Amino acid sequence: MHPFSFTKAETTREALNAGRRGGRYIAGGTTLVDLMRETVERPEALVDISGLPLDEVSVTERGGLRIGALVTMSEAAAHPKVRTLYPVVSEALELSASAQLRNMATIGGNIMQRTRCTYFRDVTADCNKREPGSGCAALEGFNRTHAILGTSDACVATHPSDAAVAFAALEARVHLLGPDGERQVPFADFLLRPGNTPNREQALRRGELITGVEVPALPRPLRSGYLKVRDRQSYEFALTSAAVALHVRGGVIREAKVAAGGVGTVPWKLPAVERHLVGERLSESLWAAAAERAADGSRPLRHNRFKVELLKRTVERQLRVVGGSK
Ligand SMILES: Cc1cc2nc3c(=O)[nH]c(=O)nc-3n(C[C@H](O)[C@H](O)[C@H](O)COP(=O)(O)OP(=O)(O)OC[C@H]3O[C@@H](n4cnc5c(N)ncnc54)[C@H](O)[C@@H]3O)c2cc1C
Repeated sequence: MHPFSFTKAETTREALNAGRRGGRYIAGGTTLVDLMRETVERPEALVDISGLPLDEVSVTERGGLRIGALVTMSEAAAHPKVRTLYPVVSEALELSASAQLRNMATIGGNIMQRTRCTYFRDVTADCNKREPGSGCAALEGFNRTHAILGTSDACVATHPSDAAVAFAALEARVHLLGPDGERQVPFADFLLRPGNTPNREQALRRGELITGVEVPALPRPLRSGYLKVRDRQSYEFALTSAAVALHVRGGVIREAKVAAGGVGTVPWKLPAVERHLVGERLSESLWAAAAERAADGSRPLRHNRFKVELLKRTVERQLRVVGGSK
C-alpha cells in the first residue's frame, strides 16, 4: 500500500473543501481499501465522509424516493418504502455481496465501485482503464465474464453493481454537490461507456460528492423484481441479471422499465424490449418475443458467446415472474 493521509470530514463543507484539493472520498471502504491494498488505486489523501448527514431515505414531493448516498446497502434493502414501492431495488441489493459487506457498504459507494475485471485488478497486466494507453489484456485473454454490450477496442470490462441495474431500469437521478453547487444527472448519463477513455467512468466533476439517488414516481400499481444469474448462489457477481418494473392496468402493459446487468460496460437499459411490451396484453407468448430484443447490438468475445442466449433467457424469465399472465 502507498502512503496516504486520512481526515474525517465533520461537515459537508469540510468534505467538499478536501475534495476540491484532490482528496478521495471514502464511505464504507469495502472496495476502495481492497484496491489500495492491491495498489490499483493510489490516492494520496482520503477523506472519510461516513459521518455526514446523508443517511436518510425519504419520499420526495413528486412522490418518488430519495436514498441518501450514505444509507448502507442493508438499510436501503430493508427500508419499508423501498421494499413496498420498488422491490426491484431491494432485491438487487439483497442479492449483492454478503451480509457483512452490505452492513458497511453505502449506496454512493455501490454505484461508484470499479470493475471486477481480473486484468484491471492485476497491476502486472495491460489495462487501459488503470493505465491509459497500455492496452487491454482481456480482449485476447480469458474473457468469459466480460461485457458483450457497450464495449470498445479499448475496454470490455463490465460494471459490477446490481443496484445500479435497478436504478438504470427505473431511470433514477444521481444528486451531486460540488464546489459549484448542486446538480442532478440522469442515471443513464452518470456511468460512462468506455470509448477511447475507459479510465473516465463517471460524469463526476473534481471534488463532487454524491448526496443521493432519486428514484422517480412511477404509475401505480407497479410490479417489479430483480433476477441475478451467477456461477454460485451467493457472494458472486452477475453473469447476467435483469431488473424489470411493469405498470399493468386492465390486463394491458402501460409502462415497462427494463435493464440488464453483467453484460454491459455500464448497466444496460433495454428500450427495444420496453417498446415491445408497452400497449400489449399480458400473454404467455409475449415474454419470449420481447426478450428476443435484449441482446440487440451485442458483440460477444471469444469466451462469452453464451451470454447472448443467457441474457435473453434471463430477461424472459424475469418478465414472466414480474408480469405473470393475468
Ligand atoms: C467480495 C465482494 C463481493 C461483492 N459482491 C457484490 C455484488 O454481488 N454486487 C454488487 O453490487 N456489489 C458487490 N460488491 C461491491 C460492494 O457492493 C461495494 O464494495 C460497496 O457497495 C462499496 O460501497 P462503500 O461505501 O464501501 O464504498 P467505498 O469503498 O468507501 O468507496 C468506493 C468508491 O466510491 C467513492 N465514493 C463513495 N461514496 C461516495 C460519495 N458519496 N460521493 C462520491 N464518491 C463516493 C469512493 O471515492 C470510491 O472511489 C462486492 C464487494 C466485495 C468486496
